[in-house]
Amino acid sequence: MIQSNYFEDNEDLILQFDELIDWQEIVSEYEGDFSDAKLYLSTQNPNLQMAPSNLGEAIDYYREILNSYGEMAGMEVSPYVASFDSEGLQFKDGVVTHPQKMADLVDAFHSAGLPPAGFLRKFGGLGLPHTIKGLLLEIIYRCDTSFAIAMGSINLATILQDICDEEQKNRILPKLINERYSVTMGLSEPDFGSDLSSVKTRAEFKDGKWYITGTKRFQTLACGVNGAPSATLCLARTGSPTSGAKGLSFFLVDGKDYEIAGIEKKMGIKSSATCEVVMNNSPAELLGKEGYGLTRYVMGMLNGARMSVASQGAGIATAAYKESLKYAQERIQFGKPLSEIPAIKRILDRMEREIIGMRSLLIEGARTVDLYHWRSMREKDSGKDEKEIRKDPHIQFWNSVSSALTPLAKYYNAEMANTICYDAIQVFGGSGFCEDYDVARLYRDVRIASIWDGTSQIQVNAAIGPISLGLSGSGAFGEYIKTKMSLISPSEELNEIYENVKEIAILYKNLENSSLKEYYSVDLIQNVSRFLIGILFEEQEKKLKNESVLQKRKELRSKFNLDTLGFNDSALRKLRALRQ
Ligand SMILES: Cc1cc2nc3c(=O)[nH]c(=O)nc-3n(C[C@H](O)[C@H](O)[C@H](O)COP(=O)(O)OP(=O)(O)OC[C@H]3O[C@@H](n4cnc5c(N)ncnc54)[C@H](O)[C@@H]3O)c2cc1C
Repeated sequence: MIQSNYFEDNEDLILQFDELIDWQEIVSEYEGDFSDAKLYLSTQNPNLQMAPSNLGEAIDYYREILNSYGEMAGMEVSPYVASFDSEGLQFKDGVVTHPQKMADLVDAFHSAGLPPAGFLRKFGGLGLPHTIKGLLLEIIYRCDTSFAIAMGSINLATILQDICDEEQKNRILPKLINERYSVTMGLSEPDFGSDLSSVKTRAEFKDGKWYITGTKRFQTLACGVNGAPSATLCLARTGSPTSGAKGLSFFLVDGKDYEIAGIEKKMGIKSSATCEVVMNNSPAELLGKEGYGLTRYVMGMLNGARMSVASQGAGIATAAYKESLKYAQERIQFGKPLSEIPAIKRILDRMEREIIGMRSLLIEGARTVDLYHWRSMREKDSGKDEKEIRKDPHIQFWNSVSSALTPLAKYYNAEMANTICYDAIQVFGGSGFCEDYDVARLYRDVRIASIWDGTSQIQVNAAIGPISLGLSGSGAFGEYIKTKMSLISPSEELNEIYENVKEIAILYKNLENSSLKEYYSVDLIQNVSRFLIGILFEEQEKKLKNESVLQKRKELRSKFNLDTLGFNDSALRKLRALRQ
């Protein structure tokens, strides 16, 4: 792997940070009136010591965090990731052992205080908005997926900030952070993965306590890292066996109370433990309200997990591109570097522009979550009724837009990262097919992105409702797009794409039955993803000050939009044919 600071060596990431992201908007949503900094002055609570007291301090703090992530990922961890993959995991007598160097480096991240990125300061977290979390995850995923999970899985527990009462939050969250827990999503079972409303694991209330019995499959890191503690956020049935989604509740089960029955042998992410977990009357703590497990809480947790996979896609794709570019500049064929051979240059150019698009989509998705999440959390903490909070027009609007953008970003970045890793192997030729270079590992590792945390098909199912409604009739997503288009002077190509996407949405809406709609939904989602990236590119151009950067971006955007018009044409031909 290339060794460098993975923040500082990434021109586009720096450009996004320095010129393109509207920090004023994000910081004011996250910090409110900088209440943490004020509270620090009056309480001297050490957890609040790093709280910024103005916009400039917040930006400096974010840069410092990204720099630390970039330095540790790119300089300290990257030299070892190939060995984590070849060494793999050991499983014996219910105990999983990770490569020792990997465990040592996870510890080094903990000692630097970097893992709890998504937690509020008062619980011992770094106090970062989703936008920054998206970028730091991209950096760490560029380094290695297995390592990224081993280091940062604790952030799954940020859902407790939204669903638990103050007593539970204050008791559980600092303990998880201080004791360096790994946290897993206890959802999938041997018989149910996508169809979570059917899970069978049972929770029973006996003598004033909850106990869980059942088997969970594919539990990432349910074993913890080499002796460090672990916990699972477990979905279990508290209603009758036929109670469906509404009979499911959400529990915290400590790793010492369940058994690891085995780990999977996998094609990729070989140093990430994918465990089978057996719970037999395991003591558990109910989180939030009974019956809200799947419908509210898991969906909330999956929103965060979706954005994390959008980061994973951008991170792995960046690694694949940077390794490919370096190789193509160094290897000479027919008397010149591969990078100067038009067929290879074409591949590299597409990789570059697609990655900038993926990163833009990731940042926009995270932004939409920032725009409603912190405000609603603050209002909840102040005792305001949840129904009232949901009625707030600002919260309602951005919540709605993000319910379209988070599955869109997960779907698009996961699929595109797979394509980019395929391209990377092609740039390396025969050497790419061998394990001597990193791209073979990246190609194996990236495959999970379109499967876990809800497959690409499930993301399409999640996004299609708000998007088709928004584009063909009314709804927040349509409003959001209209506003964005009115704030730029769209290029001719972007206007044409908009007209095409509207037609695709109407053709989709008029399909005769729900089976046909499910069959063709991916066409709409793919085209909308690319249309949105096209809008983001043109928004960004308005902010760029450097003329040569602007020119390069314009060329890149034009090529991106031409590709999109090709996708539009394919979808329109298919859908128009169905009408005849
Ligand atoms: C390495 C790894 C780590 C994982 N980590 C975790 C974890 O930590 N916690 C956890 O709970 N789970 C985890 N999972 C499970 C993962 O989330 C599931 O594998 C995934 O959700 C798909 O479920 P499934 O494997 O049962 O496939 P199925 O649900 O059987 O799906 C098979 C295929 O059918 C498609 N499909 C199914 N239903 C529909 C539908 N209604 N519409 C369209 N297409 C559909 C799917 O897209 C897929 O292509 C992990 C899996 C792996 C491989």
